Amino acid sequence: MSDQNPVFIPGPTNIPETIRKACDIPTMDHRSAAFPPIYDKARAGVARVLNMGVGGEVVLFPATGTGGWEAAVTNTLAPGDKVLAARHGMFSQKWIDLCQRHGLDVQVVEAPWGAGVPVDAFAQALAADTGHAIKAVLVTHNETATGVTSDVGAVRAALDGAGHPALLMVDGVSSIASIPFEMAAWGVDVAVSGSQKGFMLPPGLAIVGLSAKALAAMQDAGLPRCFFDIRDMLSGIYPYTPPVALINGLAASTDMLLAEGMAAVAARHNRIAEGVRRAVAAWGLSPCAQSPELYSDTVTAIVVPEGVDGNALVAHAASAYGVAFGAGLGAVAGKVFRIGHLGMMTDVMALAGIATAEMAMADFGMDVTPGSGVAAAQAWYRETRAG
Ligand SMILES: *Cc1c(COP(=O)(O)O)cnc(C)c1O
Repeated sequence: MSDQNPVFIPGPTNIPETIRKACDIPTMDHRSAAFPPIYDKARAGVARVLNMGVGGEVVLFPATGTGGWEAAVTNTLAPGDKVLAARHGMFSQKWIDLCQRHGLDVQVVEAPWGAGVPVDAFAQALAADTGHAIKAVLVTHNETATGVTSDVGAVRAALDGAGHPALLMVDGVSSIASIPFEMAAWGVDVAVSGSQKGFMLPPGLAIVGLSAKALAAMQDAGLPRCFFDIRDMLSGIYPYTPPVALINGLAASTDMLLAEGMAAVAARHNRIAEGVRRAVAAWGLSPCAQSPELYSDTVTAIVVPEGVDGNALVAHAASAYGVAFGAGLGAVAGKVFRIGHLGMMTDVMALAGIATAEMAMADFGMDVTPGSGVAAAQAWYRETRAG
């Protein structure tokens, strides 16, 4: 029965029944007339979720977010090109690593794990780059390892302030479809996501939005690519076998999101996340994120006291209660545990996660009063409930 428990990992996320059923369809000849309407609907839905504006394109690869990173850089950059990126968590680190393995020259700005993208350092680097050697600026919108959301609009302002033409590429894998994402307003050139987080689908799709400027950069991009060649994707015919069932699910997912309304989706995530944060405060613990404006509404990384192994705590919650929380990754392995609260999430589900975390922490002898976090979250959810 415990496999029916909701998960509190920050991806893959819980799947609503309507979306799960939309992923269960009979075999379809993807070269028949049945496929294009599904494909077009999913892509149009994603464009709206991204607030993409005009002139852009959405492409869907059978891959994951990592494939989306690879598609982003290989379709727009040439070997040796300089890119600017911050390292402040596991996911920003992995994207840097991917760029380096592709022979890009990454100008890395180091920042503490728990900090946001260092916009001032970016602004300085861009202002100093008068020759415009930097071809792209990479931003991890929501660092899933630390529960930190960075200010993409401020990075756009830094680019504009320096009059710098670099492409702005954003990893929105754990932000898009959950918290506000304004592709057009922020001047994002490449937005990367995956199916298994805010879109509430099984893993298996890399979801990439490209601006007109990114599409233009595609023509001189010298990095090799084949499977991820966006020129093939946009040739009018899907270049290989599309994951039809997932794309049908994506059409259902975007329908569901847009019916709720993206502003309401964001408000729901903010409200649920605030309940989790109030629970954390009631436990006498702190988020890994350094300051409140960085707090992520999709995942909270909670610092455990010295002497407690956060990863052992996560393993215990899984074996004792059948509930999955996120372990600490990289530099914060063992030092934090993470509660994912994105995608399909309700007050009731969040309360179950908070209650389970309390049981696990009590089992570990932590000085946390069982019920204290639940009570704090209950009070917040009652105070701010819709009905
Ligand atoms: C999950 C995640 C990824 C990696 O996605 P995969 O689908 O596992 O390849 C990248 N970036 C962020 C911010 C993520 O949360």
